[in-house]
Amino acid sequence: MSLWSLFQAAYQVGGEVLGDGAVVPSSLSLDTRTIQPGACFVALRAERDGHDFIGQAEAKGAAALLVDHPVDSDCPQLVVPDTEVALQRWGQTRLAAVRPRAVFGVTGSVGKTSTKELLAAAVGGWKTPGNRNNTLGLPEALATLPEGLGAAVLEMGMSTPGEIQLLTEIAPLDFGIITLVGTAHAENFAHGQQGIAEAKGELVAGLVPGGVWAHLASDPWCRWIAEQPWARHAVALPVGEGHPYDWEGIASLGAAGGAFLMRTPQGAFPVRIQLSGEHQVRNAALAAAIAVQAGFDPKQVAAGLGSVAPDPGRGRLHTLAGGGCLLDETYNASPDSILACARALLQLPGEEAVAVLGSMRELGLEAPRIHRETGAALKALGLSRLWAYGEFAKDYAEGFGLRAVAFPDFEALRDDAAGLSAIPPGARILVKGSRFWRAERVVDWLLNR
Ligand code: ATP
Ligand code: MG
Repeated sequence: MSLWSLFQAAYQVGGEVLGDGAVVPSSLSLDTRTIQPGACFVALRAERDGHDFIGQAEAKGAAALLVDHPVDSDCPQLVVPDTEVALQRWGQTRLAAVRPRAVFGVTGSVGKTSTKELLAAAVGGWKTPGNRNNTLGLPEALATLPEGLGAAVLEMGMSTPGEIQLLTEIAPLDFGIITLVGTAHAENFAHGQQGIAEAKGELVAGLVPGGVWAHLASDPWCRWIAEQPWARHAVALPVGEGHPYDWEGIASLGAAGGAFLMRTPQGAFPVRIQLSGEHQVRNAALAAAIAVQAGFDPKQVAAGLGSVAPDPGRGRLHTLAGGGCLLDETYNASPDSILACARALLQLPGEEAVAVLGSMRELGLEAPRIHRETGAALKALGLSRLWAYGEFAKDYAEGFGLRAVAFPDFEALRDDAAGLSAIPPGARILVKGSRFWRAERVVDWLLNR
């Protein structure tokens, strides 16, 4: 089954075709800044009305339009009552029609993208590109899913309750992973940690009957999910000590990644990964467990896991000209991921270990306290100095104590004599911050100093 023409899409999602319905879009696009020629441009109503960008979409070579009223354009158009619903239905029906042999979903407070990449390599499967993990990005990617797939691995994210439920309605799952139930997006959850666990648990509720999901045996909230009535139709696979699926760290390979022995009911096998840090070993162990449980060959699983190289901003390691190294973790930040990356930094060879951190966002009223606790935890782990910037920089610094400095924004951090230029050459440097604070500017500055 090749990709769908506009007529075929209309048959699946409803709506009326105006113009040449035989046209076959090569992809869907929600944004004219990134649209590819040949795509169907989906005009969504968000902060901006996508219908205002149709001229731009046409100029960039859009082959078709998905709109909620007939528009004045030479492009063939599918006119539907609600473009967002039609987009979701397009992704849903495409997945159902091409039917990969196994569909895997990955969620968790941190480590979704890393684990998705590892699992997709382990099972040799299709994966959602980049971070396409929400109720728009996932169906956008699914709409042009290729046929004949052995496995598809989908990242599922959420910021509010109900989102993962919708994602699993779009894409029912045979297998799942919850990497960790942590504190991300705490501000949106009235019932704190339990609310977050319930929302992540929507992935388990969305498994097909008899579907299997893997989690760390040490994660109390995943154990809680496994006991809920709405999780009983699925099989929980705890991974860790005392369970049939377990791993044993062999060595931190420092800059070269990590190695561990994976134990499964099908036998034990060594795994070597290129990603640094214990947290990536845990992600890889979860991926290995669910892949083997799904029937994939352990040798192929180990080889796949070993083939994954770090993405920019997610653990890429740079050697600095004046000595020392820089761990680029600028993609995003949460308390769990900062501490995990600090532990990874401390395993790298080199002189004093320091961090440059942008503030974290989406932590709600607890943000100052969480920043203080994160600062204190970094000190306790053994980092020797901290450079912080952004709205909660002072809280990070207060928690860290002596040898921490705080700046209101990147410009101050860059220009102050006590700022970036005070970082000693030879140091091991962790650079991290929420997406908003664009800590990649710190990386650029340090690489070019
Ligand atoms: P997002 O919510 O932005 O999609 P994500 O859940 O996809 O994030 P990743 O992009 O894989 O997460 O990783 C984000 C950060 O968390 C990185 O700094 C990474 O090193 C760290 N990280 C990855 N896995 C774990 C883990 N299991 N525990 C703690 N930190 C982790
Ligand atoms: Mg992600």
